[in-house]
Amino acid sequence: MNTFDRVLSEEGLALRRTFPEVLQINVGKICNLTCIHCHVNAGPRRKEIMTRETVEAILGWLDGPGGMIGTVDLTGGAPEMIPDFYYFVSELRKRGRHVMDRCNLTILLESGYENLAGFLCEHEVEIVASMPCYEPENVEQQRGEGVFDASIEALQLLNRLGYGREDSLPLHLVYNPNGAFLPGNQPELEAAYKEQLRAVFGIEFGRLYTITNLPIARFASWLRHNDEYERYMDVLREAFNPSAVEGLMCRNTISVGWQGEVYDCDFNQQLGLQLSNGQPLFLWDLDLAEFAELEILTAEHCFGCTAGAGSSCGGALV
Ligand code: SF4
Ligand code: SF4
Repeated sequence: MNTFDRVLSEEGLALRRTFPEVLQINVGKICNLTCIHCHVNAGPRRKEIMTRETVEAILGWLDGPGGMIGTVDLTGGAPEMIPDFYYFVSELRKRGRHVMDRCNLTILLESGYENLAGFLCEHEVEIVASMPCYEPENVEQQRGEGVFDASIEALQLLNRLGYGREDSLPLHLVYNPNGAFLPGNQPELEAAYKEQLRAVFGIEFGRLYTITNLPIARFASWLRHNDEYERYMDVLREAFNPSAVEGLMCRNTISVGWQGEVYDCDFNQQLGLQLSNGQPLFLWDLDLAEFAELEILTAEHCFGCTAGAGSSCGGALV
């Protein structure tokens, strides 16, 4: 039994699946940025990209066994950079699915992506955008030079299209700490973001989600390089919050990789913890009744989701 499972058991808790409401699809590792906290090790030279064949197989599954799943959450990398992004979103919307795009904002201003913001708007895609601070220094330290100005410009563009202002065009921001510490209080940070972004840049948005950096991939390398890995793990373990367990996203999400592999969450995906029913599981082989019985695969990094107020792709949990 790993330490995370032992702590759950000592608290009299068990991690059980509920009905999967969200299909979160990581369509590939290509990205126009190379942020230091990236848990995907994404970047411009990555070649792992979902093919049209895999897109079709996922759509086929949603037309059949996955018919009850209402939300498809597209992530990456920069999901918009795969060649079939427009096709995939259009097909999902035709099928009445709510579609979310985890967007790094800067991609909206890249050459070749001039129509992207309009496309997202036309298809009423919910945008969940990374914005680690409302001041330039922190953003550029974490995400690279010029990223703050580009993010502001992209948010202003989205606001002009109605994002963050109209109910049908939700725009939410994501904060993650710029180092080896837990996020601050979500409602307080949200209020500060709203005040600053409105006052200085005239920007409106819906919610701010605070997300804890998980100690895997590029962030784990950064921690080790700075001799911070063990200290950060202690911070996460000591801040274990039993109340966060009920809302953990692995309970109601199916996470799918660029080749169709099935995982409990995007973090397990990056660690290669593919689910198995005797053999490695791909979405098109997934039976939801069988899935409900599969154990959620945990390890030390799971303490990142239960620390403090908890953390998920939808922000704090308690
Ligand atoms: S954190 Fe997001 S924007 Fe940054 S490199 Fe990773 S996938 Fe790209
Ligand atoms: S890392 Fe994944 S499996 Fe572990 S607690 Fe978080 S969401 Fe669940």
